Amino acid sequence: MDQDLELSGRQWARKFPGSADTKDLSGNFRLAVDAFIYAMEEAGIKVKINATFRPTKRSYLMHYSYRIAKKGYDPKKVPSMQGVNINWDHGTKEESVKAARDMTSALDIQTLQTKPALRSQHNAGLAIDMNISWGKTVEIKDASGAIVKINTLPRTGMNKQLIDVARTYGVKKYNGPGRDFPHWSNNGR
Ligand SMILES: [Zn+2]
Repeated sequence: MDQDLELSGRQWARKFPGSADTKDLSGNFRLAVDAFIYAMEEAGIKVKINATFRPTKRSYLMHYSYRIAKKGYDPKKVPSMQGVNINWDHGTKEESVKAARDMTSALDIQTLQTKPALRSQHNAGLAIDMNISWGKTVEIKDASGAIVKINTLPRTGMNKQLIDVARTYGVKKYNGPGRDFPHWSNNGR
């Protein structure tokens, strides 16, 4: 075993930080997201951004800490990743799982229903996670400037009318396998 490896644990959550700022998104997708968020805020919709760009190294930490903590994955079997000098194996199963669980908590993924993807559109600056909510019927401009009245439920990012408005801007709700409520991207993945 490489001598330079550092044991897993919550301190790893600080090493490869992700962004929650749209300025860290890529090119046209950044413009699309900024325009969509502007339209939502003008309509009185509350938007809280949780994540935009995420380094692949952070995705690796999220993916394997979750699997070890929640899915019984063997810490000895985690493939290494270039530039991430982590040792997932504390010598006992109990210690390894506890360290992985501490990491999922520090990475704020401990309540997710499905494991975080090893690769995602976040790694290319082409995805955003946001909490969206509003209180009563709202009127929002789509990308062509037409006003759309949203009078259906739920009053969240899962609203089908809002999802249709987002698409006019080039922002697509997650439509891949499983569920990922806060996730939007350039291609729905
Ligand atoms: Zn996401």
